[in-house]
Amino acid sequence: MSLAETRSWAESLGLPGYRGQQVFEGLYAPGTNRFADISVLPRELAERLDAEHRLIPGEESRRQESADGTVKSLLRMHDGKLVECVSIPTEDRHTICVSSQVGCAVGCTFCASGLNGVERDLTAGEIVYQILFHHRRRPVTNVVFMGSGEPLFNYDNVVKAIRVLAEPRGLGMGKRRFTVSTSGVPKRIRQLGVDEPQVTLAFSLHAADDETRSRIVPINRRWPLAEVMDAMDEYSAAVNRRMTLEYVLLAESNMTDAHADSLAAVAQKYRAHVNLIPFNPVFETTHQRPETEAVNAFAARVAAQGVNITVRGQRGADIDAACGQLRRREMSQG
Ligand code: SF4
Repeated sequence: MSLAETRSWAESLGLPGYRGQQVFEGLYAPGTNRFADISVLPRELAERLDAEHRLIPGEESRRQESADGTVKSLLRMHDGKLVECVSIPTEDRHTICVSSQVGCAVGCTFCASGLNGVERDLTAGEIVYQILFHHRRRPVTNVVFMGSGEPLFNYDNVVKAIRVLAEPRGLGMGKRRFTVSTSGVPKRIRQLGVDEPQVTLAFSLHAADDETRSRIVPINRRWPLAEVMDAMDEYSAAVNRRMTLEYVLLAESNMTDAHADSLAAVAQKYRAHVNLIPFNPVFETTHQRPETEAVNAFAARVAAQGVNITVRGQRGADIDAACGQLRRREMSQG
């Protein structure tokens, strides 16, 4: 709930609105798991609220910690659904990669999240909880919607979660610290540019020709590249920022010279920045991680055509860090 909604919720229980504000502020304080942990609430009231309402929507069911500091948590929501979120610390940042749905309907061939389709959307509260969960170990500086789910298929809850996290009386995060990554939903891309122009939107391209992309990212058959790039172009103009294209490097699928040249052509046309992400192997897919030399050669060929490019370093290589892996492991073990 937003601060205003929390105040109205308190009033709907016959309480003064400021009690709602106390709950809102208390929720974001360290160590709050129940209403009874919010010390400004009278004990009797806190007990009543704990008996009737759930303050936190889930709990950690499993955790994997990488030697590089990356922590992947599997959160079990109140209805038993499992959701992954990953904490990625560096010296000056603490980035959380969050999920927006349970499973995913897009079905990218390199991703474990889409193997069983989508089960349900996450609520705004369940999205906020993923950040809050890791925030308690170390303050979160950045949030990326790159976990399970297509965030623009759960548009209202994703936007609401960002607004709640930006509330000054909560975590007070700047909206520029959020990145939403989409497989390409043209109508929603345009809408985000209008509704939340400070949020960064990255497009998961993965192949710059329709034939290859339709094979890897099946949603491309519904919204082909030209349509999505048009929407991204409009979005970039509306928010006055350079477009970001994400490109997962899959050995033997999207790394030929022709693929590099089409990527360079698209990036140049739209003056986009390109993030190359060497594939992190997922069990149950046939894709392979590319050799470092192949990654470097691909990046060099694209960069030589005047494209601004970054090769993302791998984090969490010793845990099930790729999207959807830990959840599937837990499900398969019952
Ligand atoms: S990569 Fe993203 S959009 Fe594609 S199936 Fe996985 S979660 Fe869905």
